[in-house]
Amino acid sequence: MKIIKLHDLYFKPFINEKEISATVKHLAQQVKEDLPKDEIPIFVGILNGCFLFAADFIREYKGNCEVSFVKLASYNGTASSDNVKHLVGINEDLTGRTVIILEDIIDTGRTLQEIYNIFRDKNVKQLKIATLFFKPDVFKKELPIDYIGKSIEDKFIVGYGLDYNGLGRNYPAIYQLTTQPKMKN
Ligand code: 5GP
Repeated sequence: MKIIKLHDLYFKPFINEKEISATVKHLAQQVKEDLPKDEIPIFVGILNGCFLFAADFIREYKGNCEVSFVKLASYNGTASSDNVKHLVGINEDLTGRTVIILEDIIDTGRTLQEIYNIFRDKNVKQLKIATLFFKPDVFKKELPIDYIGKSIEDKFIVGYGLDYNGLGRNYPAIYQLTTQPKMKN
């Protein structure tokens, strides 16, 4: 793996494909083990960042399940509603269901808190959170994070679905922000 350049920034190799794959598999196994045998959960991926994680996770989940994706969007319109967010994409009736949120990365937890509150109001039977990456040093919420793939330091990462200004999502491994390397003359 080599250093990559996205826009104006450089990123160094951080977590390789093999480790990601083992982490995702372990998460899927843990989730399965904790559910009653006949439970059919609905996995809800938070777009955009989770699309690769969710695709790999559900293939490692050995049991029947449903899959859906949502995106958190701001309402357009008056200034007073600028901070009000709503979820786009969820059409299923979640009453009485076991809902497991799939997140690519939890940083401060602000995004997740908003999503969590919206789902909590939908009369679900059980609401759980599984995240591939977690930054414990910046997490500021009281939310229960049920499943964590890997805790990482507070440095910006890209790859495996995660982007920097739109680029980097297609790299199969994870790269970490680094200072600009010295160029050879
Ligand atoms: P939070 O609301 O927890 O602070 O941030 C969550 C969102 O910010 C994630 O879903 C992700 O989109 C973005 N984010 C947080 N940390 C990183 C990071 O290290 N790299 C990238 N690419 N996105 C991040």
